[in-house]
Amino acid sequence: MGLSVLDLFKIGLGPSSSHTVGPMVAGNRFVNELVARKLMDQVASVRVELFGSLAMTGKGHATDTAIMQGLSGEQPDQIDPDYAPQLVANIRESQKIDLGGVKAIPFNEKTDLKFCFGQSLPKHPNGMTLSVSDEAGIVVYRNNYYSVGGGFVLSEEETDQTGETSDNTVSNLPYPFENGEDLLVMGRQSGLSIAEMALANEVVLERSQDIKADLLHIRDVMCACIDRGCVRTGILPGGLGVKRRANSLHADILKKQKTGDNHLEAMDWVNLFAMAVNEENAVGGRVVTAPTNGAAGVIPAVLAYFEKYLNKKGDDGIVEFLATAAAIGMLYKKNASISAAEVGCQGEIGVACSMAAGALCAVQGGSNEQIENAAEIGMEHNLGLTCDPIAGLVQVPCIERNTMGAVKALNAARLALNGDGNHRVHLDEVIQTMYQTGLDMHEKYRETATGGLAVNAVAC
Ligand code: SF4
Repeated sequence: MGLSVLDLFKIGLGPSSSHTVGPMVAGNRFVNELVARKLMDQVASVRVELFGSLAMTGKGHATDTAIMQGLSGEQPDQIDPDYAPQLVANIRESQKIDLGGVKAIPFNEKTDLKFCFGQSLPKHPNGMTLSVSDEAGIVVYRNNYYSVGGGFVLSEEETDQTGETSDNTVSNLPYPFENGEDLLVMGRQSGLSIAEMALANEVVLERSQDIKADLLHIRDVMCACIDRGCVRTGILPGGLGVKRRANSLHADILKKQKTGDNHLEAMDWVNLFAMAVNEENAVGGRVVTAPTNGAAGVIPAVLAYFEKYLNKKGDDGIVEFLATAAAIGMLYKKNASISAAEVGCQGEIGVACSMAAGALCAVQGGSNEQIENAAEIGMEHNLGLTCDPIAGLVQVPCIERNTMGAVKALNAARLALNGDGNHRVHLDEVIQTMYQTGLDMHEKYRETATGGLAVNAVAC
């Protein structure tokens, strides 16, 4: 199955795509596999083991609750965010889990859900093993799953058969681009923009009946998230005591509008949009994975900036923005990684910045060469960015980091638009550099909360 633009923008729940969305998908897949294999009658108990980064930061990233929700038959794009905590409370109180909503079995979180600290599965740092046993304690089914970033999940079998990235290609796509150079060459040959090529591929992929309507729905979910984030107040959960700031920033911007005393108003709005989304993400609210949850604020912030200040094309401008961003995101998914457990925050904020920069350049009339340049700048100046969330929570540095990624994307688009598309470092080169840098990065800087700010800033 090939990559669709909708794979880069998934509707889900916060706080993490790899640690919340992916594990919920895995839990749901596991119970569906039990049903398909007609094993449900034999099941008397279920066991969850979390490895690598899922163990190290799983508590702060709500991996445990997401797995329980997935095993209960819930899916990230459909679960009601207001009901999600209640479902987990019910499981904890009753010490029972209703597998797939069809079979209730005993479930003691302390013994049946294990954080395997210091251990990893072989295929990826975000591994999990799910198994069920019968009344005699004999394992009747077991599978390993890997949450490989952005909510993508591969089973053990899928990684054995295909490798992580080779399932991204489809032979009959009209524009089967694998890298940035392909996009430029195909664009020159066809006379099409990057967005037009990505949308032409969607016709063959058949993932959507109406891709434009689906992308506009993605925009609506992003905007709803910004709106919620702007009105809610209070302290974020998890014990760090981080105060929500979007609401007061919003009030401040409106106040300064009246006096005309704000020479950086546009930047304040961008910061607000990004902050609002990521505060919602931190409380487990409804967000769009873009391309991850930790970085979910960057693209909505730049998109909202575009709508507020620049969009003269209406819905077509929104579709062009999101299709361009997704095409750029695919290059990282195909040739590097969007998993912070693999490559650090470069793979989250860095990729989101690159996607947003290219998209903003495109909707301002940038050529494909300028778009590629903007995307390259967006990543080049995020190279080496580590993932070191304090207390394993997607709050510090994550929320502010989204504001930085969004503002940087604006500048990257501007630099590219002020040039002619010719530039020294190409997008493919910077993608390879990001990947190699990520692989060289010490494990403590790859979403394990064992280095950087996570150990140098006091978590109380
Ligand atoms: S530091 Fe970056 S990669 Fe790590 S959790 Fe925060 S946003 Fe995600």
